[in-house]
Amino acid sequence: MDIAIENGKIVEKVVGNDVAIINASRMVVMPGGVDIHSHIAGAKVNAGRMLRPEDHFKDVEAKTENTRSGVGHSIPSTFTTGYRYARMGYTTVFEPAQAPLKARHTHEELNDTPIIDKAAYPLLGDCWFVLERLAKGMIEECAAYVAWTMKATKGYVIKIVNPGGLEAWGFGRNMRNIDDTVPHFNITPREIVQGLCKVNELLHLPHAIHVHTNNLGKPGNYTTTLETMKCVENLAKGDKPVIHVTHCQFSAFKGDDWQTFHSGAEDISKYVNSHSHVTTDMGQVVFTDTTTMTADGPFQFILYQLSGNKWINGDVETETSTGIVPFAYKRKSFVHATQWSIGLELALLIKDPWKIFLTTDHPNAGPFTYYPRIISWLMSRAARQKAMKKLNKRARQKSLLSTIDREYTLYDVAITTRAGQARALSLSHKGHLGVGADADIAVYNVDPTSVDPSRDYRLIRRAFKRAAYTVKGGEIVVRNGEIVKSVDGKTFWVDVETSPSVDEFAPRLKQVFEDYYTVRYENYIVPEHYLAVSCPVHVKAEI
Ligand SMILES: [Zn+2]
Repeated sequence: MDIAIENGKIVEKVVGNDVAIINASRMVVMPGGVDIHSHIAGAKVNAGRMLRPEDHFKDVEAKTENTRSGVGHSIPSTFTTGYRYARMGYTTVFEPAQAPLKARHTHEELNDTPIIDKAAYPLLGDCWFVLERLAKGMIEECAAYVAWTMKATKGYVIKIVNPGGLEAWGFGRNMRNIDDTVPHFNITPREIVQGLCKVNELLHLPHAIHVHTNNLGKPGNYTTTLETMKCVENLAKGDKPVIHVTHCQFSAFKGDDWQTFHSGAEDISKYVNSHSHVTTDMGQVVFTDTTTMTADGPFQFILYQLSGNKWINGDVETETSTGIVPFAYKRKSFVHATQWSIGLELALLIKDPWKIFLTTDHPNAGPFTYYPRIISWLMSRAARQKAMKKLNKRARQKSLLSTIDREYTLYDVAITTRAGQARALSLSHKGHLGVGADADIAVYNVDPTSVDPSRDYRLIRRAFKRAAYTVKGGEIVVRNGEIVKSVDGKTFWVDVETSPSVDEFAPRLKQVFEDYYTVRYENYIVPEHYLAVSCPVHVKAEI
């Protein structure tokens, strides 16, 4: 069929003859890719860049007529990030960990990231103001604060990382399970997750709470993950998901220690298959040198001890923590090879592709540039078997993959790499090619009538690596895998309408800033004009 584009949108038909035509016959046409979870901008990402000069000089992008120069294998510079996503046909990428206090930095880098649309998720699960209100059962006051934070920091989603654990880390401690008590706050991770889930529903935010679970990266953590998903079961109304468990691979570990470590993917998949209030994403491991970075400071300390690599530990006053450690995933490592298998097992055992999305938790389990390879693993049993031949033998023997025949279709790929993510984020104008959608389109040079992805997985990988065309907002930005034009992407943020308005909440917050922060209230707020292309999403709250 023909797809008509006018003024950046997909329309019924175009009037007049002065029309540019792309002949996409015998090619795969999809909406632009959407990435729900990729660390591409902000203070932590930039600290990672500074920590790792060796990540830059081996991977250089030269300046061209249409592009600026850049560097970086696992933590590309801002411009390079935008170009590399666009080359793969991706047009929307959301940054999932913004310390509210560092929001200005995040938006400065997002402004410098060309082509793609973006948004940022403020970290709220360990913020003192949130913990204090939730501990006292003051849900509405907490909701007013969250609404204010979305506006003040230009955020889009409530992000929760190791709830309570980051605050405890300030005292050298961590949360052992979801019913542990956060020091000095008389609250548990369960109460934080449930409280912020209620806040999310009161505010009608566009996405569910986005949760990095307690005990992430530790053997045996799959029970914590199941308990976390279960604890908000009753808060779901209808079929709309209320919790997104992110980079699930890192939270699907069985075993008592690294010796007995094995996959918990079957148990997690079984739960997700039988419940509609959960979505998740893969956090797929790829075998390469990368950089791990997360707000989960205590987890990064463990990784530092395990790897002996250099390490950054950070603390953002009263809000969150951070950690950065370089890391190499090796095929011959039992643990790494098992992790590789777990990500794919989850994607293949969770039956509904609308519930699990393709990510690598870039750059934690590998750089986003490996997505085409992951797509080929999802689509081809032969590709998986070939990869498995080189794996650690014990990991290979224990892997569930040899028992799984499923191969993704191109429709499954379209859902897990764009349609599902767009739906989970309530981006109704993305993830599809219907009339009214944004004209963000990827064309891949692979003929679905003659190519069998199961057998010809190399062709699939090649095609998804370099889009034949990427169209962003109606403009051709990529042709034959090369950037031909750079445009500015939009930054989405949620403008929550509350009664009284969030601005009337401000005087109460000024005291919080006097008491807790070393910065002034006035300097904390990111004004709208700070965003290169501001795109507020209006929602009306129940408060
Ligand atoms: Zn992440």
